[in-house]
Amino acid sequence: MEIRELTKEIRDKSIEYAKPKELDSLSASWYQEDLLYSGKGKTIFLILPTPGCSWALGPSGGCTMCSYISDCYLKPIENSKIIELFEKELSKWDYKEDYENGDKIAIKLFASGSFLNPEEVPKEARDYVLKKLANMEEISEIVVESRPEYVKEEVLDEIFDIIGDKLFEISIGLETSNEETRLNKINKGFNNKTFEKAINLIKEYKSKHNIKSKAYIFVKPILLSEQEAITEAIETASYCEDLGVDRVSCCPATIHRGTLIERLWRRGSYNPPWIWSTIEVINTIRQNVKIPALMDTSGFGSRRGPYNCKKCNKELKHRIIDSNFDQSQIEYDCECKKEWMAEVKFSDLNKSKTPIKHLPLY
Ligand code: SF4
Ligand SMILES: [Zn+2]
Repeated sequence: MEIRELTKEIRDKSIEYAKPKELDSLSASWYQEDLLYSGKGKTIFLILPTPGCSWALGPSGGCTMCSYISDCYLKPIENSKIIELFEKELSKWDYKEDYENGDKIAIKLFASGSFLNPEEVPKEARDYVLKKLANMEEISEIVVESRPEYVKEEVLDEIFDIIGDKLFEISIGLETSNEETRLNKINKGFNNKTFEKAINLIKEYKSKHNIKSKAYIFVKPILLSEQEAITEAIETASYCEDLGVDRVSCCPATIHRGTLIERLWRRGSYNPPWIWSTIEVINTIRQNVKIPALMDTSGFGSRRGPYNCKKCNKELKHRIIDSNFDQSQIEYDCECKKEWMAEVKFSDLNKSKTPIKHLPLY
């Protein structure tokens, strides 16, 4: 079975079995220390309620590792409701006091898809949110996420007309610079040219606006060995730097429910990366590129996330979080490192040389 059909089939099933959602439960927020463009500061992370990612809801079935759709409403949402929930989340945090004490404050708006796609975040709601943030002197950086095809001149013009000279970062899930992996293993549906077009447009806007770009790098897509996953992630960061991306953020795989990655994991054909691999990736990227490189640690040490051994999981997670602030190298040792080294060394040995046409599931 081909990847799209299979992803679509799994997605449809998970949507069919999903319990109806209460709209009020679909927004969320948290507030914590973070690395801003201006240095160490605080960020409000805010999830806006949306109908869901158009790519995942469309005929492609979406990306093989992502289940954001299961936290979405799946139906259109009134602008007034989006605004109400945005206000509710924003009012939870005491960023004003931190600002008065000299902290820099950023906000990251998550739309579980593309903030710049008006079918996911309608223009009226987007304008309201941006106007509100534009008028808040405490907020100096606004970060959103989007697929590259929605990074368009008219949208950027509309945004900068509202936010003026505040810093605006667009984070794009590039996942990998390897097109074969992106198209046929992640089912991402866009090629390098589309990504490059978006980054070039952002670069053009730099002459008149305070705009930045970030690329997410997905560490260990399905059907890659541990070694291949490490190599691809490292190469992707260099590709991003060469293109003029402002920073990269690595996201190691965790097993989301109702995804193709979960199906392969349940059948023993896939494991998230070792934490050692994520350290190898981030240390090497930081040696190779000059732009800031972050490593996400969500799910580290859990059954469905990157894993080493019980002795070192927690410690390494903390060391990675600390290193994100000062961009330092992570030096550490544990007995389990030998096992990881053997897996990395031998993981390609018994791999078939026949190119994968059909997924090894049926
Ligand atoms: S990774 Fe992004 S583009 Fe892919 S399905 Fe998830 S939200 Fe949509
Ligand atoms: Zn260990």
